[in-house]
Amino acid sequence: MLKATEKIWHNGRMIDWNDAKIHVLAHVTSYGSSVFEGVRCYATEAGPRVFRVREHARRLHDSAKIYRIEIPYSIDQLSSAMIDIVRVNKLDSCYIRPLVIRGYGDLGVLPTKDTPIETYIACWEWGKYLGAEAMEQGVDVCISSWTRLAPNTLPVMSKAGANYMNSQLIRMEAAINGYSEGIALDAAGYVSEGSGENVFVVRDGKIHTPPLGASVLPGITRDTVIQLAQSLGIPIVETLVPREMLYIADEVFFSGTAAEVTPVRSIDRIIVGAGRRGPITEKIQSEFFAIVEGKKPDTHGWLTPVPQPVGAR
Ligand code: PMP
Repeated sequence: MLKATEKIWHNGRMIDWNDAKIHVLAHVTSYGSSVFEGVRCYATEAGPRVFRVREHARRLHDSAKIYRIEIPYSIDQLSSAMIDIVRVNKLDSCYIRPLVIRGYGDLGVLPTKDTPIETYIACWEWGKYLGAEAMEQGVDVCISSWTRLAPNTLPVMSKAGANYMNSQLIRMEAAINGYSEGIALDAAGYVSEGSGENVFVVRDGKIHTPPLGASVLPGITRDTVIQLAQSLGIPIVETLVPREMLYIADEVFFSGTAAEVTPVRSIDRIIVGAGRRGPITEKIQSEFFAIVEGKKPDTHGWLTPVPQPVGAR
């Protein structure tokens, strides 16, 4: 159950959590016309820090542009609004959800000037997505019988609400069969991504991850992992990954705002490597947490402070 906070940002104003409602005949409800983001704010000794806020605001703009949705706020304005909503709700660590929808006005597949664009930003407290234990032990996953969105159908570089109908199929099938998550293949049969995570495969000391052309969301954590691997001197390549490479990998892990860096210990009941978090996954994971939790200097400039009232600490 969502843990309600006090305020939600709506079109530049703070409104009460319970007032953030839409009409049943809003365009988004019938036609799935929404784009959104998921962002994390971490608690550090020095106060709350939002992770890669500008990159998330930029991706929201990209997602909207693909669908000809004009967001009336700049990347900088959206970034500040994300910081503001955390500050106003007095949270130390939380998940932030910016959401842009085609709202209530006209109703037809072709959006008209009478269909308004509404921008919301909410935040709430949230823990580990795939479970705290999973961070060490790893998760059991399956290859989904559902294919990820094919090119030229729904554009996956847009983080659109409608894409998550496909994600729901993947995730529900996995859950019903007793797995924590499903990995989908792309329309050509190569590894694509999880329902809400990018995938990394380690073999012989080298990390492989599917390229953007394999129907993957350009994950901000994916980019973070690529940069961390490079700075740690671990070879990493974006390349097509055949399904069977997952079965013979030394290590497999997921990345995502929600999943952070989560090891995978089995795929289709085939044990991956030693069946627990491998050494390369552990290196990337501990580097990631050291930075986001403020235990190592943020040399990449990934963290933005949330101002706190004087004397709060
Ligand atoms: N793929 C999909 C389908 C997702 O929903 C997400 C979560 N946004 C990701 C990958 C990971 O992206 P990010 O690291 O930006 O959260």
